Amino acid sequence: MVLPLVALLLAAAPEPPKAALVAVKAARLIDGKGGAPLQNAVVLVEGETIRAVGAGLAIPAGARVIDLGGATLLPGLIDAHVHLTGRADMHGYRALGISLPKSTLDGAVNARLTLQAGFTTVRNVGADGFSDVALRDTINEGGLPGPRMLVSGPALGITGGHCDNNMLPFEAQGTPAEGVADGPEAARAAVRRNFKFGADLIKICASGGVLSKGDAVGAPQYTIEEMTAIAAEAHRQGKRVAAHAHGTLSIKEAIQSGIDTIEHVSLIDDEGIRLAKEKGTFLVMDIYNDDYILSEGEKAGFLPESLEKERAIGRLQRESFQRAWKAGAKMAFGTDAGVYPHGDNARQFAYMVQYGMTPMQAIQAATRVGAEALGLQDKVGTLEPGKLADLIAVAKDPLADVKALEHVSFVMKGGAVEKSESR
Ligand SMILES: [Zn+2]
Repeated sequence: MVLPLVALLLAAAPEPPKAALVAVKAARLIDGKGGAPLQNAVVLVEGETIRAVGAGLAIPAGARVIDLGGATLLPGLIDAHVHLTGRADMHGYRALGISLPKSTLDGAVNARLTLQAGFTTVRNVGADGFSDVALRDTINEGGLPGPRMLVSGPALGITGGHCDNNMLPFEAQGTPAEGVADGPEAARAAVRRNFKFGADLIKICASGGVLSKGDAVGAPQYTIEEMTAIAAEAHRQGKRVAAHAHGTLSIKEAIQSGIDTIEHVSLIDDEGIRLAKEKGTFLVMDIYNDDYILSEGEKAGFLPESLEKERAIGRLQRESFQRAWKAGAKMAFGTDAGVYPHGDNARQFAYMVQYGMTPMQAIQAATRVGAEALGLQDKVGTLEPGKLADLIAVAKDPLADVKALEHVSFVMKGGAVEKSESR
């Protein structure tokens, strides 16, 4: 019987349109939970979420099939420490010539490169003028290709510290960096201000750094009192804090203050590792970029003192990584992309394996554990029903050679195909 058109329309009206079903097939699947890979894997995607994952799953009639052949599927990768608005070729005094609009546009270029490299989620830790908030929002609106972003806005720090502008002489200095806040109450106010303008988390500078002028890399900067106020205020608002800390004392004081993730972690001692384990603090150690800084740094404009600092600290950071991992600390993948070229993020996996992780553990640092470090474990990080359909594929088996992750052939973010190289 043929119904009149109007009847069909009325009957259909209360039903929302069904999200399209997509079946992604591949020879192998690593789900991020740490078990043996699935063979002959199928991921069933409905709209933006995963509906089912399994070996040889029956594919419902009408589903669109994406057959990736002999590839390995993995959860979309997570980099917990990037600077999308920063450029690898513009360090030192060169960076002073970059306007806020230009760095925001650079961020759009870098967001695309990062997504194409298989990183579907990043945490952007430090950007002037809330350019990271604008970038995140435009990506979320579908206006630009890019990873899911958690953003901090301007990083908070002390006057003259790693997060201040120290490049110009007194008479030319103008205003201090946007994130400068001295004393617990000013620091607390700065936390509130960053959240007011759209930050998802707070980034602080607990110790000196490699790229900053005039400070010793391990020198303590924020005090326990300041960091405790920052962490308490962020936690009151249900948000997290990431602390840049190279120095032994600052690492421990940041952990004791309740900071959620420690970045760089170069000079951690055994007591610091014990404290991190006790508190459940995540360590985010950028152990690839030493090679880039030392080989390309001079061309990229790094200050001579920055190169000197990197020479003193790079190897020690890798040894600290090895010790911390062996001792059982929680470690999430974070690279400091922007110091080195965006899109090369996956080069760090080989170093994590060289310094003590198995390929599976390194993959988990950038998937399940990375999601936990960011508080996104209910949404991303593993391939499971109900999670967002963020998945990538690589041609070779990354458990046999983790460098396979440097060549990502397929990227899906929230159910949308963002990259698909023909085999
Ligand atoms: Zn950084």
